[in-house]
Amino acid sequence: METTQLPKPHLVVIPSPITSHIIPTVDICCLLAAHGAPVTIITTPASAELVQSRVHRAGQGSSAGITVTAIPFPGAEAGLPDGCERLDHVPSVALLQKFFHATELFGEAAAQHCRRLMAPRRPTCVVAGMCNTWAHAMARELGAPCFIFYGHGAFSSLCFDYLYTHRPQEAVASLDEPFDVPVLPSFDECKFTRRQLPVFFQQSTNIKDGVLRGIREFDMAVDGIVVNSFEELERDSAARLAAATGKAVLAVGPVSLCGADSRAGTGSSDEARRCVAWLDAKKASSVLYVCFGSNGRMPPAQLMQLGLALVACPWPVLWVIKGADTLPDHVNEWLQHSTDDADGQCLVVRGWAPQVPILEHPAVGGFLTHCGWGSTLESVAAGVPMATWPFFAEQFMNEKLIVDVLGIGVSVGVTKPTENLLNGVKDGAEPEVGTEQVKRALNKLMDGGAQGEDRRSKARELKAKAKAALENGGSSYMNLEKLIQFAA
Ligand code: UDP
Repeated sequence: METTQLPKPHLVVIPSPITSHIIPTVDICCLLAAHGAPVTIITTPASAELVQSRVHRAGQGSSAGITVTAIPFPGAEAGLPDGCERLDHVPSVALLQKFFHATELFGEAAAQHCRRLMAPRRPTCVVAGMCNTWAHAMARELGAPCFIFYGHGAFSSLCFDYLYTHRPQEAVASLDEPFDVPVLPSFDECKFTRRQLPVFFQQSTNIKDGVLRGIREFDMAVDGIVVNSFEELERDSAARLAAATGKAVLAVGPVSLCGADSRAGTGSSDEARRCVAWLDAKKASSVLYVCFGSNGRMPPAQLMQLGLALVACPWPVLWVIKGADTLPDHVNEWLQHSTDDADGQCLVVRGWAPQVPILEHPAVGGFLTHCGWGSTLESVAAGVPMATWPFFAEQFMNEKLIVDVLGIGVSVGVTKPTENLLNGVKDGAEPEVGTEQVKRALNKLMDGGAQGEDRRSKARELKAKAKAALENGGSSYMNLEKLIQFAA
C-alpha cells in the first residue's frame, strides 16, 4: 500500500541585522529545535559567529536541527565600511541610507537562496525580523506562511497599532503635550508625548520614509506575529493585538531561558569571568546592575550626573558603559579615578557584559535599565526589579508596563529621548536628569521597606510564571507548538 508522505516542517528564520534582535531570534530557533522542528537561520558572514555560538551554547548544533547559512552582505557594493553588517555597527548618519540599500540587496540574494532550497529544507514557514521586508513576497511565492518578529513586546505592539489606527499623536499642539493611548482597560494612565514615540510616529527622523513605509507594509501583510514574551506577563495584550490586527500572535518567551546564556557558558570570556568572580564576593541581592542595552550611550554630561549618583551608592554597582573610547578624556579620567577603586564597590565594564548570567546571579538586587525589550524580559525572567531610564524606540512604552502595569519598577523620571542614529534627536548640552534625581529612584529600587519588598515579591512571582510558560504545557511552550503547526 502506498503512503502519502506529509511534507516535514522546516522553518526559515531571518533575524533583523541588529545585535539585540539577532540574540532573541536565534534563541527562538533554539527553542524550536528543542521542540524537534528543523530550522535554517539565514544571516550574514559577520553575524554568523554570534549566531553559531548561541546555537552551540544552547546545545542545538546542526545535529539537533539548526543549520546556519551565511549569505554575503553587499556592504562594499553599497559603500559601507568592511564588516558593517548590522544596524548598530553603522558609524554615522551619513551611512544609514547605504545600510538600508545593502539590506535590500542582501534580501534579493537571500530570497534567491531560499527559493533554491529543496525538500526537506524547502521553507514551510518563514519567520523574519522586521527589517527583512522582502521575506513576505518570498514566502508567498513558496506558499509558506510568513511571521514577523519585531523584537519588542505585545503591549508596545498594541500601542503601535493604536497609534497607526487612531493617530492621537497628530492631534496634539506640541511634542510635549501628553495624549492617551488607552489600550488596556485596567490601565487608564497610559499617556505619552509625541517626543517619546518610536521613529515610525515622528515627523522627522534620519530614516527615509520609504524604509519606514516598507516596514509598515510588511507588518500589515504578514500572517502572524511572534513576540518574545509570555501571555501571563503583558495582561491580555497578545490577545488584544490578535483581535486588533486579525493575525495570529504567538508569545514564545522569555527566550533568554533557552540556555544560550546559562551561567555555565560564562567562562567563555575574561570579562565574563571577572564579572562573575566580582559578583560571587557580594552579598545576596546587594548589587545594583547598570546597563543600557547593546549600544546605549548618554551624552558625556549626562553620564557624569549618573556616575556621581552611582559612586555615591551604598550598594556595590556593576556598571556597563558603551562607547567609553569616544568619551572626552576628562570623563574617562574621572571614571578611572572614581570607579575602579580598590575596595571593589564599583566594577565598570567597558564593552560587552554577560548580561543574562549577571541578572541571574543571586547577588544582583536591582537593574537600572534603558527598558530595551530584551533587557526587560531578561530582568523579568531573573526576577530582578528595575529602575527605568528609557532612551528611545518603544522604551517609554516598556517603562509604563514595568512601572505602572506590572509594579516591578521605579521610574527615574526621564521625559525626553536620548539622541541616537535613527531618531534624529539632537541632545541639548544640559543633562535632563540630575544626580539627586537618580539617587532618589535608586534608593526606592534598592529599598528594604514595604514598597521595595512588594516590587521584589511581584518580580519573584513573574520569574516563576516565566519559567512555567516554557515548561511542557505552559503558554509559551504551546505557542511554539502552534508555530510549528503553521509550518507543518
Ligand atoms: N547585552 C549583553 N551585554 C551587554 C549589553 C547588552 O548581553 O553588555 C544584551 C542583553 O542581554 C540583551 C541585548 O543585548 O539581550 C540588548 O537588547 P535590548 O532589547 O535590551 O536593548 P537594545 O540593545 O536593543 O537597545
